[in-house]
Amino acid sequence: MPNYQYPSGSVLYRDLQHGLPLITRGRGVFLQDAEGRKYLDGSGGAAVVNIGHGVREIGEAMAAQAAKIAYVSGAKFTHYPVERLAERVASFLPFPDGKVFFLTSGSEAIEAAIKLARQYWVERGKPKKYRVISRFPSYHGNTLAALSLSARKHYQETFRPLLIQSHKIPAPYCYRCPWGLAPPACRLRCARELEKKIVKLGPESVSAFVTEVVGGSSTGASVPPPGYFEAVRAICDKHSVLLVVDEVMTGAGRTGEWLACHHFGLVPDVVVMGKGLTSGYFPLSAVAAKKELVDAIRRRGHNFLHAQTFAHHPVGCSAGLAVLDYMEKHDLLARCERAGDVLWRRLEPLFSRPHVGDIRGLGLLVGIEFVKDKKRKTPFPRGKKYVEKFMAAAIKNGLFLWPNVGHAGGADGDLVMVAPPFVIKDREIGLLRDKIASTLDEMEKMFP
Ligand code: PLP
Repeated sequence: MPNYQYPSGSVLYRDLQHGLPLITRGRGVFLQDAEGRKYLDGSGGAAVVNIGHGVREIGEAMAAQAAKIAYVSGAKFTHYPVERLAERVASFLPFPDGKVFFLTSGSEAIEAAIKLARQYWVERGKPKKYRVISRFPSYHGNTLAALSLSARKHYQETFRPLLIQSHKIPAPYCYRCPWGLAPPACRLRCARELEKKIVKLGPESVSAFVTEVVGGSSTGASVPPPGYFEAVRAICDKHSVLLVVDEVMTGAGRTGEWLACHHFGLVPDVVVMGKGLTSGYFPLSAVAAKKELVDAIRRRGHNFLHAQTFAHHPVGCSAGLAVLDYMEKHDLLARCERAGDVLWRRLEPLFSRPHVGDIRGLGLLVGIEFVKDKKRKTPFPRGKKYVEKFMAAAIKNGLFLWPNVGHAGGADGDLVMVAPPFVIKDREIGLLRDKIASTLDEMEKMFP
């Protein structure tokens, strides 16, 4: 068996330090490697695979589209898959008559969204509006502008001179509230920080506020307190700041609604999606904007100044359509919500474990945060590499979860995301829990 570890072979692996299992197939919630070992994909990759692995009809839909027409430039042509997928996405947006632009990754879509916001203000005769406010912790991607908006110190440090200016306020990450407050007594101080920041920068210079709705891995699925987004929406309206929501991880049903916005009655100006939109069967992301934003551009005789070769890709859009069809046919939104309840009941007893500080989330997006001292919420020092060791032990146990670091003050912090495909069966949820529990047993021996 070849050794898939750098420097053997020609791949610039994402992990240059360790060997990687070679995955040859997947079915439902399971992956299988070339040696026949099975892994329970407890996070659908990076919270991507919503409908499960190995769904033949998605591959067939993509193959049929590729055989008809695989590619045309979106600059001068349109086609059925993009027309139909845009209509489908628009049908679950929280605003009427939305307009949807398809790209390939979440990072690109975030960048396109902040460009769209900026262009909107220029077209409206307010060229001073360019600044973007985001939150910490947060994650919006790894291309330079998306990375600038993110609060990921370990990813940013090396590239600091290349990053654009960004302005950050604390996220509603109540487990680690920077002021040591809790709702409702906090009176949503984290939301009020947005207004403070806008006023400090000068509302005439602020173009957009970019925010996750339910936190992704950056806060381990932290759910905002009641009233948070009502306050944020009102502040954005008061100061003419566009509200851009990053639903790259939460969109396409992951929290039990098509968009996490719907849980909060939130009506943003722009929604960014990715990941689950095609469930990983093709790289596809989307920027969905209120019609009035696009109208402002068209009225001046302009186009949205964004051009990427693979925008509106026919095969990508056909994958998105097939995935959304599959979700509807198998009632996977309801299934996600129900499986989320079962998962929660199975995971809850893990609260008693010595290093499980918190378990939180919505639907099938759950974060388990590990701490050294539960009472004080003290994280393990980063040098101990808790979550890296957890992941190595989990993989040995045939379990894959999605890790995160850096949420506890910028460098420290260890958590894993549990975000299985929506098709997970009750007994597989039991297996998932058992594998997490046995991995914790090993960790407790390593970190007594
Ligand atoms: N936004 C959020 C909330 C994400 O979780 C991610 C990726 O994990 C991104 C943006 C970036 O997406 P991509 O990795 O497809 O560029």
